[in-house]
Amino acid sequence: MTWIETFRRGASGWARHGLDLLYPPRCSLCDAEPTPCDRSAPASGARVCDACRRLLSGDRPRCIRCAAPLPDTLDADPVDAVGVSPRCDRCAHRAGRPLEGLVVLGAYDASLREQVLRTKRPAGRLVAAGLARLLVDRHRDVLHGWAVDLVVPVPMHWLRRCRRGTSAADELARWIGAGLGVPWAAALRRRRATRMQNELPWEDRRANVHGAFRAGRRVAGRRLLLVDDVTTTGSTLLASATAATAGGAAAVYAAVVARADRDEDS
Ligand SMILES: [Zn+2]
Ligand SMILES: [Zn+2]
Repeated sequence: MTWIETFRRGASGWARHGLDLLYPPRCSLCDAEPTPCDRSAPASGARVCDACRRLLSGDRPRCIRCAAPLPDTLDADPVDAVGVSPRCDRCAHRAGRPLEGLVVLGAYDASLREQVLRTKRPAGRLVAAGLARLLVDRHRDVLHGWAVDLVVPVPMHWLRRCRRGTSAADELARWIGAGLGVPWAAALRRRRATRMQNELPWEDRRANVHGAFRAGRRVAGRRLLLVDDVTTTGSTLLASATAATAGGAAAVYAAVVARADRDEDS
């Protein structure tokens, strides 16, 4: 290490400690002060306290392909990214494409719902950063095993984005990319406005988003990680993955904060 690098590192360390004294680091999700061990500069830029980590990251084992909860008797954590990852009965006998794998932080219960709603508010950037950090920390081995090289948010139609001013999926993609050291790009577009999936009965959701997306040139030959805040039927992810595959993506995986588990899953 040259003396310039040594000086730079030292200076940024002092600056950080100086800022920590002025503004003690706070948890991105609940505003509590994190434990000292969590003060090291996190890759995703967010700090999360132990209580939030326990509350939001203690999910059950899930299928590595569709994230359906697995029977409690199957005592397996999906950490093996190369072949023997646990799958549900449905996925065990079905081809992976176009969506080859899906990881989630947890079920869409009261705690995660509250945090997901907070990401949609104007100051939700920090919350998205905190959730992204938990998601990457929980599934780091699987995500690295997938060897993705572009993180892509599930797109919101421009009209809705104008009204809201922010997209939770964009923020999550940005921070998940930072956590993995992989670039992110809004490489999928909505061709048309669709109705909100959560306003529709499950059986109508696939038709609502069918053909609703198109992929830009950047996806060609890339291994994509699609990112969204919530998935229920998986129809939006599937339609996005289909568009990405049609656009030449080499492989498509997904990471989503919360999965609304249906009764038939459990
Ligand atoms: Zn917290
Ligand atoms: Zn499955």
